Amino acid sequence: MVKEYGILPEEAHYSCMVDLLGRAGKLEIALIFISNLPIKPTAPIWRPLFAACRCHSDLKMAEFISKQILELDPDDATVYVTLSNMYAEAGLQADAEEQRKLMKMKEISKEPGCSWIEVYNKIYRFFSQNKSHSEMPKVYEKLKQLMQQIEDIGHTDNEKEDRVLYHSERLAVGFGLISLPAKKQIRVFKNLRVCIDCHSFMKHISKIIDKDIVLRDNYRFHHFHHGSCSCGDYW
Ligand code: ZN
Ligand code: ZN
Repeated sequence: MVKEYGILPEEAHYSCMVDLLGRAGKLEIALIFISNLPIKPTAPIWRPLFAACRCHSDLKMAEFISKQILELDPDDATVYVTLSNMYAEAGLQADAEEQRKLMKMKEISKEPGCSWIEVYNKIYRFFSQNKSHSEMPKVYEKLKQLMQQIEDIGHTDNEKEDRVLYHSERLAVGFGLISLPAKKQIRVFKNLRVCIDCHSFMKHISKIIDKDIVLRDNYRFHHFHHGSCSCGDYW
């Protein structure tokens, strides 16, 4: 980059490099890479490695990185939630509970999930379970119908609660489907990471209705096309 193109790497480049190494499972190398950076590592540089620790179940490194992230961004609720889930998966219930308590003590609450979509030059915002919008009955109807089609091919949500059916990103996609012309791509934005159930919901409907869906969450772009996602189910 520097020699051939004269581009000086910045935070975003370092963050991508850490993401690449993390995806490949090279956690130790990513850690050495971060330690040797010419700039002081920032939270966006640590975060992809933290996510990789989750995927590769490296609890020890996750503990170390959580400290680095919280030092730089003490309000990052994702760190507590992720650590708590990792402890729970490792059978360490007391430690899992401790993370939840710490989060409560610091009065960090999860930001409410919000998704938005542009339809005819107007931005429409959706929150989970939100029913205030006048088109909502139609949106719920559409989502129910899609869910039925997905169940017919043998898929169900992991989360058994009904709440997941009406997560904000689904409401925004449902609204796009009933409001936009059939040929138009659905482009939705979300302030938080998309949950695993909504991610597979999007994959299925991109196949069932044969329409691409693009979802930008706070981690990355997801391009759903004919039953699969550009992130390769890693995000
Ligand atoms: Zn969801
Ligand atoms: Zn994806």
